[in-house]
Amino acid sequence: MLRKLTSAAAGLLFAAPLLLCAPAKAASEYLEPFPAHHVISNIYYVGTKGQANYLITTPAGNILVNSGLETTVAMTKASIEKLGFKYSDTKILLISHAHFDHDAGSAKIVKETGAKYEVMDVDVPVVESGGKKDFNYGDKGGENLYPAVKVDRVLHDGDTVSLGGTVMTAHKTPGHTKGCTTWTLKVKDGGKMLDVVIVGSPNVNAGYVLVGNKLYPQIAQDYEQTFRVLKSLPVDVFLGAHGAYYGMEAKYPKMKAGAANPFIDPAGYKAYVADREAAFRKELAKQKAGTKL
Ligand SMILES: [Zn+2]
Repeated sequence: MLRKLTSAAAGLLFAAPLLLCAPAKAASEYLEPFPAHHVISNIYYVGTKGQANYLITTPAGNILVNSGLETTVAMTKASIEKLGFKYSDTKILLISHAHFDHDAGSAKIVKETGAKYEVMDVDVPVVESGGKKDFNYGDKGGENLYPAVKVDRVLHDGDTVSLGGTVMTAHKTPGHTKGCTTWTLKVKDGGKMLDVVIVGSPNVNAGYVLVGNKLYPQIAQDYEQTFRVLKSLPVDVFLGAHGAYYGMEAKYPKMKAGAANPFIDPAGYKAYVADREAAFRKELAKQKAGTKL
């Protein structure tokens, strides 16, 4: 699935295979370790090469965004510890969206840390069914399915998650999944307040039906909503559910004392959203034309 890029996505500037986040088969990059690193202020990268998890530290314990795969939980734990934090201090677990590459490890992390699992309303049935209720992958089995876990708090669009002075806002950016969530928060860096975004996913995966989708009739309108939301957000620091969204691998080595923080990239964010919107519109037009034949 990861290699079967849609023609709409193929060849585009940001169309690295991982960007599609296609959860049919785990790419080797999902399992490949990547150095845990400081991003900005109280935000740290604790994901793998291909799959992004973030630790947001506070004096009252930590928030983990994305649990990754079941098999990478040990790597996430090791990354947290390498940075000098305690895995057991994980108080809240959030996700970008209910696909296995972001949520399959949730049951294990909740069990091991006692973190409260907080998920966007329409993604709740998917995580609580271990992926079976996903509109596109629920009947495909394999890695798309994972241990089910009970959600502790159901989030709605615009809800906030607060811990130890950090406030994160959940923006529903649906289409990729029904409850796909883009997280924003404000951080202080060098005396300035900066707006941080963790993009949920604006991508149309290979095989997604945008026209006449019986299990998700409003999918195209939902993507439209997503692009409206993404274009409206104030963004200084650009992060996402996969490092490929924001060029993590290229930016990471530029993180040096005295140098500008490479993750502050408002222009990169705008270009990314514009590129993904163009890809969506191209695919939608193609599918609409196909239905008229
Ligand atoms: Zn996904």
